[in-house]
Amino acid sequence: MRAQIKLGRIFGVEIGLHYSWFIIALLITFSLAGQFRENNPGWSDGLRWGISIVTAVLFFAAIVVHELSHALVARFRGLPVRSITLFALGGVAQIEKEAADAKTEFWMGIIGPITSFVIGVVCLAITFALGWTPPDFPQRPLPAMLMWLGVINIGLAIFNMIPGFPLDGGRVLRGAIWWITGNAVRATTIAARVGQVIAFLMILYGLLQFFRGAGFNGLWIAFIGWFLLSASRESYAQMVITEGLRGLRVGDVMSRDFPVVDANSNLQTFTEENLTRTGRRFWVVTLNGQPEGIVTPHELSAVPKNRWPYTTLSDVMRPLDATRTVNPNTPVTEALEVMARQDLNQLPVMNERGLAGLISRSHILQLIQTRAELHL
Ligand SMILES: [Zn+2]
Repeated sequence: MRAQIKLGRIFGVEIGLHYSWFIIALLITFSLAGQFRENNPGWSDGLRWGISIVTAVLFFAAIVVHELSHALVARFRGLPVRSITLFALGGVAQIEKEAADAKTEFWMGIIGPITSFVIGVVCLAITFALGWTPPDFPQRPLPAMLMWLGVINIGLAIFNMIPGFPLDGGRVLRGAIWWITGNAVRATTIAARVGQVIAFLMILYGLLQFFRGAGFNGLWIAFIGWFLLSASRESYAQMVITEGLRGLRVGDVMSRDFPVVDANSNLQTFTEENLTRTGRRFWVVTLNGQPEGIVTPHELSAVPKNRWPYTTLSDVMRPLDATRTVNPNTPVTEALEVMARQDLNQLPVMNERGLAGLISRSHILQLIQTRAELHL
């Protein structure tokens, strides 16, 4: 989830918006305006829309604070945090590494719901202090807004504690089992199963409600359950990969035979004689036999086709010294993280003598498959 609109930095963490956020921001503003219309008939249109927009903005600010709490615990425990992105289903903090110990996993997960809960309680406390007497709906704008923020933040805290990945509760459960048993793999498996059972129950319950006439609300619960189910499968698969590759180094799995092409070939010749004939996408460009850079179809597509016969590979290649590389001692999991972060499918492996080999995502995936088949 990459931010397309950057808002700025807090504590050095970049805060941004994904385009899909605008959909949910509009939905929430409209639904707030609807609620205020019902509960505060005395308000003018201008006041109602003004308060709806301010409330929605504060709601998203509370989500940023929630994500920021995850980010700060992560950083405190030594995990680098890149950014926080708001998108259609809330917020996500991009933490660049998986927790290496149970305590980190546990605290990193639980801090978010705690933060939302505290925000909610503070909002409700101020609403009471301003003279709110439940169950009446506050009629003055400030208490009306704070009451809504209080209820929704507490709701958010409860929802996030559902023990299924990728919700915070899934991390908390995994961290707790890991902490108690000392076994990360077992913790992952149990937490994933629990999450899937809960997701199934939500789908079932949502559909039942739908057929009993609950309409949209039933479908919504089923949809969230379905989302949880697929997200939990994905993050479970991700963790199995991380566990399976633990201890492996780049040097153990890199391929030493990489395709090479001369820097003086032009793009036309290269495409006809190398690229389309072999189907390989990643080429090492050599000058006088020495590796100088790399080239993929991506570099070619930046040049108009009619210029291909007059452009050489040395003009378009990515020079090795300007390319993200790894060394044979880098853990394979870290190489995968680098590729994911930079959106690359392969990386050159450099040792002190120069280019030693290549490591690619598809190669690592094949490796995992082979090991799984042989139960290694
Ligand atoms: Zn969270």
